[in-house]
Amino acid sequence: MKRVAGTMMRLLGKRTCEDVVAVLCEYYEGTLEPKLAAIIEKHLRGCADCEAFARTYGEVVKLTGELPTEVIPEELRLRVRSALRERSASRRS
Ligand SMILES: [Zn+2]
Repeated sequence: MKRVAGTMMRLLGKRTCEDVVAVLCEYYEGTLEPKLAAIIEKHLRGCADCEAFARTYGEVVKLTGELPTEVIPEELRLRVRSALRERSASRRS
């Protein structure tokens, strides 16, 4: 929870995929500020990687009937991270 405050501050400034992923838990819990949730939704619409991640996350929530613990998002997160890394690497050229 501590890390979320910092993430939210950054989100209000510059949005990054990693920050979006970091607050998805709060987003699905419905504890995210409406303003921030709107930012997340907007980002998800324009970012295939985060959209796919959010969908997977949402499915886990639906299937288990509860929010994934740290264990599950961590695994998904690593997948998103490597995808993002590949993408930014190919973009740099
Ligand atoms: Zn993204």
